[in-house]
Amino acid sequence: MTSTPVIGVLAIQGAVREHVQLLEAAGAAAIHIRHASDIARVSGIILPGGESTTISKLAVIDGLMEPLRQAAKSGLPMYGSCAGMILLADRILDGRPDQETIGGIDMTVRRNAFGRQVDSFEGGIDLAGIEGDPFPGIFIRAPWVEEIGPGVQVLGRVSSGDAEGRIVAVRDRSLIATSFHPELTGDTRVHQYFVEMVRQAA
Ligand code: GLN
Repeated sequence: MTSTPVIGVLAIQGAVREHVQLLEAAGAAAIHIRHASDIARVSGIILPGGESTTISKLAVIDGLMEPLRQAAKSGLPMYGSCAGMILLADRILDGRPDQETIGGIDMTVRRNAFGRQVDSFEGGIDLAGIEGDPFPGIFIRAPWVEEIGPGVQVLGRVSSGDAEGRIVAVRDRSLIATSFHPELTGDTRVHQYFVEMVRQAA
């Protein structure tokens, strides 16, 4: 029998409910992370899309920023989508000057990177470790990964168009991030991948 890990979704702002639904569809139990004390109850955390400047400001105010940093550092699996990717980046470009991140992934992420050409688009992304058809990538004012450190594994890149070759999915040990929003599709494969990571780490 496979285990049912408890995974938290940071519930400050953004696409929280959609992640909860896909986590449950992928075989996990989901709870909201609102207070630092919630972190001890989970074996993994999802940082949803939304507005990274707002999420980071409120995380500081709510006393969550430092505990989340510690959790990422200690190897608690985390998955950030879109704004969540920005939160997991060690370095950001085009952020607000006072914008803090949780960090943990040795990468430089550019905010609103695609926005110069187009605000939102969909495209199929081939993802390492995920079988079947290209993943339906939904990009909404999305960041991309401009640079990665030596320990970071590229999981996916844009396959066509002006942004062809740009990195949009990465893994650094127990942390993964995507520029796109799997929670806005019915496709559970990225969530299944993360739930499996959490099971392995447990
Ligand atoms: N542009 C947003 C930011 O900088 C991210 C957008 C999203 O999460 N859909 O935080």
